[in-house]
Formats: sequence, C-alpha cells, structure tokens
Amino acid sequence: MSTNGVSIPPDRVRAAQDVARVLKPGRRVALTTHVNADGDGLGSEVGLWYLLRARGLHPAIANPTPPPERFGFLLPEGADASDHAVKEIERADVIMVLDISDLGRLGDLAHAVRARGGGGVPVACIDHHVSPGSLPAGPRLVAPEATATAELVFDFASVLGWELSPESARALYVGILTDTGGFRFSNTTARALRVAGALLERGVDPESIYERVYASAPEARVRLMAEVLQTLVVEPAVGLAWVTVPPDALQRYGATPDDLDGIVEFPRTIAGVRLALLFRQVASGRIKVSLRSMGEVNAADLAHRFGVGGGGHAKAAGVSFEGSLADVQGKVLAAAREYLGGGRRGGA
Ligand code: 5GP
Ligand code: MN
Repeated sequence: MSTNGVSIPPDRVRAAQDVARVLKPGRRVALTTHVNADGDGLGSEVGLWYLLRARGLHPAIANPTPPPERFGFLLPEGADASDHAVKEIERADVIMVLDISDLGRLGDLAHAVRARGGGGVPVACIDHHVSPGSLPAGPRLVAPEATATAELVFDFASVLGWELSPESARALYVGILTDTGGFRFSNTTARALRVAGALLERGVDPESIYERVYASAPEARVRLMAEVLQTLVVEPAVGLAWVTVPPDALQRYGATPDDLDGIVEFPRTIAGVRLALLFRQVASGRIKVSLRSMGEVNAADLAHRFGVGGGGHAKAAGVSFEGSLADVQGKVLAAAREYLGGGRRGGA
C-alpha cells in the first residue's frame, strides 16, 4: 500500500495491523525504550503517545533512565512516568518496547517486563535493530532495514489511517533526524527523506528543531567534549582511532551520558579512519564502548564479537563489559586491530 507518497511493504502492513490489534481504546499502555533514550527512542515514544491518546488509550512513558534534557521539549506535560516506571509497567494492559528488541537493554525494567509478559500481558515491539530479540511474546513491527524506529511508527500510523498531529510529527522527525546524524549517515535512504518530507507537510519546522536538538548545548557539554577529544589516539596503519572519557569527567562538568552523544563522530572524521571507538565507564562500573565505522567495516558485527549483549547497526553499535577501563581497552583494541587486518596483536 502507499500513503503520503510513501509505499509500505506488505509485511510491514500486516505487522502494523498485528500491533494495532492489542491497542483497544481504554487500555493502559506503558511505552518504554533502551537505557539512555536517544532521539529515536524518545521521539518514537512521544509520537506514539499522541497517537494513542487520540484513539482513547491511556499511554505513559516508562523508561529505565530519565529522558535526556536535550529532548525534553518533545515531552507533553504529564507524559513521562519514568520516575515510577516499574509501577507503570506493573499496571499496564499492554507494554510497548521501542527502538530495541532485547530485554537486556531495558536496564532495571527488564525484570518487570519479563514478569508481566510471562503473566500474559502483550509485549509489543517496534524496532529497527539487528537483534536476535529476547522479549516476551507480543506483536512485532521489526525491520532492520528501516532508518529509524520513528520511520516505522510513521508506517504504523499510515497503515491504520491514524492522523499524525503536528506534535506527533515533530517527535518522529526528531527520531529520523538524529538516527541519521542529520541526514548524513549511510542509513539516510530515499524513503526516510520521503517520510521526513511527509512530516514537514504536517507542520514540522526544521530550523527550530535543529536549534533545539543541536544548538542548545550547555557550555559544559562543549568543555567536556574538548577534554575527551584531548585523549584522541590514532593508528593510521590500521585505520583505528579512539577517545576515552576520563572516569570523573561527567561528574566534574555536571554532565549526563547524553552530553557525550556525537563525540565518537570526531575520530571517525579523520581521513583513513575506518573504525572509531569511544570508551567510558558507566554508572554500574561497567565499561561501555561505542563503535562507529566507515565503508565495509561492520560495527554491529564487531560489537557482537567483542562481547555478550553487544549490537546496533552496521555503522553504529555499542557493547559493554565488566572490568577495568585499562583491561577492556586492551582487549577491545587488540580485537579491533585484528579485525581491521593490521596484523598487530596484544594489549593497548
Ligand atoms: P551509542 O554508541 O550511540 O550508544 O549506540 C549506537 C548504537 O548501538 C545504537 O543503535 C544503540 O542502540 C546500539 N547500542 C549501544 N550500546 C549497545 C549495547 O550495549 N548493546 C546493544 N545490543 N546495542 C547497543
Ligand atoms: Mn533508532
């Protein structure tokens, strides 16, 4: 079928109809996404929040971590229940997991989602990650070839003929904009641009969105970035570059993980670099690695190889490990060098 000049593959039409079947008016829906929601996770949630409200359902956003400040402008008053997310999940008639198919990425909510799913509550999922999927049973609208989860939410609304309000369209536009790095990455498809065009026709103002998302940084974010970029190491022979977030840096700048978003793009911009990495310690004491690749290097493949629970997309992926920063860095860099075919082995 085709709506707004965007054609929708038949399997997506069927999947959207499956998801809609559990969304009956009057139902309570807990919308959730991965830890440290990004523009696509939160944009998809907000887009759906408006869609569900307009159909007489009772949606609430219940995330494992608070929504990043940067995307706060999208959130309607009272929509975010992340400060009592477990309670929302416990009283939901339907759970909708967006922008991730793995329980493990739901952080502290994984237990509650598994328990409710096991108790017969449908756990619907709309996602575009390459993932084996480990969620409890429920309808799935999953398409790894989609640019963003927000693109799939757009398809969902189109299939059902549910009208997108300007606020809903704005949230979905933010999802597509941020997951393509501002329509620059290899996942910028003609279709994604058509969907973005259809969203602009619903009243989205691209300049004001650009300003809110990319040009409203606190001064501390830029200073933090400057410090992280000082740690840059480049190995031109293998096309590898990496940066490391000093363990106490976020605290010193009063920053959140969202403030690190985009820093890993800088090592990737160096001529000849095929793989860029960002290392940082996360709250749980684990070490998180962000991967960005160029050309034929597959970041998701590498993240899978590096460790359990790693994944993402061909050009952008992540993985986390137990261990000290030095140990993890040593192992990951050795594996990266080997993968890139530099022939060098051993520690950092
Ligand atoms: P980022 O490096 O910006 O946190 O994440 C880049 C991409 O990789 C995103 O699509 C994100 O969902 C995915 N990703 C990041 N960390 C992990 C992880 O620990 N496990 C998996 N499976 N995917 C991740
Ligand atoms: Mn996404």
